[in-house]
Amino acid sequence: MLKYLDDPDETPKSNADSDNDPTSLTEDLDSQDISDEFDDETVPVEIELQSSDESFRQKIGGLERRISYLERIVKVSQMLNSILSLEPLLQIIIQSATELTNTEACSIMLIDKNTGELRFAESTGGLTEALKKLIIPLDGSIGGWVVRQDKPLLIRDVRNDPRWHGNVDEALDFETRSILGVPLKVRNKVIGVLEVINKISDDGFNEDDIQIATTLGAQAAIAIENARLLDELQQAYRDLSEVDQLKNDFVSIASHELRTPLSVILGYATFLKDNVSGQASEQLEIVLASAMKLRSLIDDMVNLRHIQTNDIQLSRSIFSLKQLVVDISDEFSDIISGKKLVLSKKFIPNDSPLNIDADRQKIYLILANLISNAIKFTTEGGRIHINLELKGHKYWLNVIDTGIGIAQNDYERIFDQFYQVEPPLTRKYPGLGLGLSITKGMVEVHKGRIWVESVVGKGSNFVVVLPSAPDVHNS
Ligand code: ADP
Repeated sequence: MLKYLDDPDETPKSNADSDNDPTSLTEDLDSQDISDEFDDETVPVEIELQSSDESFRQKIGGLERRISYLERIVKVSQMLNSILSLEPLLQIIIQSATELTNTEACSIMLIDKNTGELRFAESTGGLTEALKKLIIPLDGSIGGWVVRQDKPLLIRDVRNDPRWHGNVDEALDFETRSILGVPLKVRNKVIGVLEVINKISDDGFNEDDIQIATTLGAQAAIAIENARLLDELQQAYRDLSEVDQLKNDFVSIASHELRTPLSVILGYATFLKDNVSGQASEQLEIVLASAMKLRSLIDDMVNLRHIQTNDIQLSRSIFSLKQLVVDISDEFSDIISGKKLVLSKKFIPNDSPLNIDADRQKIYLILANLISNAIKFTTEGGRIHINLELKGHKYWLNVIDTGIGIAQNDYERIFDQFYQVEPPLTRKYPGLGLGLSITKGMVEVHKGRIWVESVVGKGSNFVVVLPSAPDVHNS
């Protein structure tokens, strides 16, 4: 810092000279002047004890004033950090900057991230339409100079400065006389400019003002950047929610619209199959199988919709969970033998029907989805084991396979809608990625839990814990 910075009343010689110069009413402190003062290699502070008490008192007074400024800046900084929305934040910065530098007005200009243009973001008196439209050129303007040079700029009389353009005053219906501009900088990158305008004092701007504006600018820049990031994040979240809503609506409409014509196809195909024989019957068998597959996909979409809207009604009855496992295994027996898989089952206790009070159709979906996945993701010759055990008042079901396995960072995500570990365009395995999210929804509506344990390349173990009756507490 230069010596005169220690004594706020002692003005730099060049300013004083120019103030007294009758040919220039005020002085444009050339950019170089200020930047020199802010260079790292500044002259060390020289505090000389003056002989007179008066001078000593002035020094103390100056220091006290600076401490008071710093205290106010710290308070402003705390306030800035607590405001997360950009608009009120900019208003507080404007207000604080004019108060702390004792000026008539303040403007904040920010660089548009997309176009790279400098535009007004806020100004004393508000951001009028005319101001919003103004683009401040980076070349040949005061703001542009501050951005390009990344240094403060003090202009004591804008009328004598070619970088001043009156269009801003016109837009604001305001008369600018003097300006102090400082860069708004985050992580070594200038994101805009803070300008304080028209010092309310005959002496004009002084070194304290430059320091205050620079310090405030640094704090403000961080707060502005944080608020902008938060804005962007919230916008991204809103966009995502919109896309999600669109997807939900599509699923809902598509499933509804597909159901009716499919029922007609299924009805006619069944009727025709019963009335023809030979090759035609075989072909109709294929039509029927394909239509059934389509129906199961549509059912998945409908079920998903019900889960999303929390619209699942349970139709409870008491039935044998053991028998259901046996029945579903039998339904898959053709595919299992086609893939040369070995399926084993174990029930504990073995001599019990293992009754459960639950919605049979939904428990069917849980078991069918887990078993069909185990079959789908296990290569030929592999093994699948189903374990069902009653522990206390809960059933523990394991569907274990020796298939491709799942990486640990996918353990949670595979239960998300439409999530598939394989990339969609190069997928080897068919499916929509809905089975597990529906399965999880059906487990949870029964107050149960589901998770997976797996080793890539070795196999997976899907674990389901279900209360044996609705009044069993989950822990
Ligand atoms: P889909 O089977 O239609 O792709 P799911 O929701 O049933 O949809 O499963 C989501 C993803 O979880 C699958 O695409 C697969 O990547 C993985 N996955 C599910 N079950 C298994 C399993 N038994 N072994 C390996 N990966 C599995």
